[in-house]
Amino acid sequence: MGVDWHSSMASSSTTAARRGRFAPSPTGPLHFGSLIAAVGSYLDARANRGEWLVRIDDLDRTRIVPGAAAGILGTLETLGMAWDGAVLYQSKRDEAYRAALEKLKKRDLIYPCSCSRREIADSAVAGIDGPVYPGTCRKGLLSGRAAQAERILTLGAKIEFKDAVQGKITHNIERQIGDYVLKRADGLYAYQLAVVVDDEAHDITDIVRGADLLDSTPRQIYLQQLLGYTMPRYAHLPVAVNVVGEKLSKQTMAAPVDATTPVPILNAALTFLGQDHVDCAPQDTQSFWKQAVAGWRMDRVPRTRTSPAPALP
Ligand code: GLU
Repeated sequence: MGVDWHSSMASSSTTAARRGRFAPSPTGPLHFGSLIAAVGSYLDARANRGEWLVRIDDLDRTRIVPGAAAGILGTLETLGMAWDGAVLYQSKRDEAYRAALEKLKKRDLIYPCSCSRREIADSAVAGIDGPVYPGTCRKGLLSGRAAQAERILTLGAKIEFKDAVQGKITHNIERQIGDYVLKRADGLYAYQLAVVVDDEAHDITDIVRGADLLDSTPRQIYLQQLLGYTMPRYAHLPVAVNVVGEKLSKQTMAAPVDATTPVPILNAALTFLGQDHVDCAPQDTQSFWKQAVAGWRMDRVPRTRTSPAPALP
């Protein structure tokens, strides 16, 4: 690599008004589920004459599979999906996350927490993403206990936003999630913080990703507001599910995308997203993308959170 991502982007940042990104976690090869997010974010950026960046979300070192990042990038290349600038790696961004957390601490919005998962599960009501943190450590750590994680205060935080696919979303974070973790017990910064800091640092204007992240978005907008960042536009695409309704993922044994004949699998992604099928030779990615970009219509993406994955070519 050796290229500083941000400075390498700076020269081009004056030209494009729109900037999207694809941010895979390198936990395995690219599968059809993540291909949907890649294709949707790529088409949305290119159809609007925008830039498209790739960020590798390798923050959680415990989940990384060696070689997965290089595999994903290689597959994108074979599919003819060229990104702008150098690839960003979250694992190199700890300093930026630390500075953002510090800013929130100065405003007394962060507190240490010593609760174990078990304790939280025992004393909490169910929320939209696991148990709602009951605020046990808000007034200080329980005596004799050491801090594990750091949480953000969500006192009355109510977030409303309009998603280009899923429509109006309203969340009461305190009631539906509770004070959430920004720095984990194992010392890693939480995804919710990292994603917000990175998208701001790289001037992302449009976030197009899977609807499995829709429930995270209010937490991210809340942080954007507290940190004084610009809120990007959001579009959450339907997530591909298997016959038993499970999201395609490494855990559900989703098959890696076979990019040796790129156009049929790209057409499967396009059809999944409600777009017209492109007619071109199976290897002709250039012609595929030209036509797919020209035909892209966000308003044709199905307005559902999940959709069955098609039989793959
Ligand atoms: N790395 C996350 C994932 O693969 C996506 C993050 C994002 O798009 O904000 O689920």
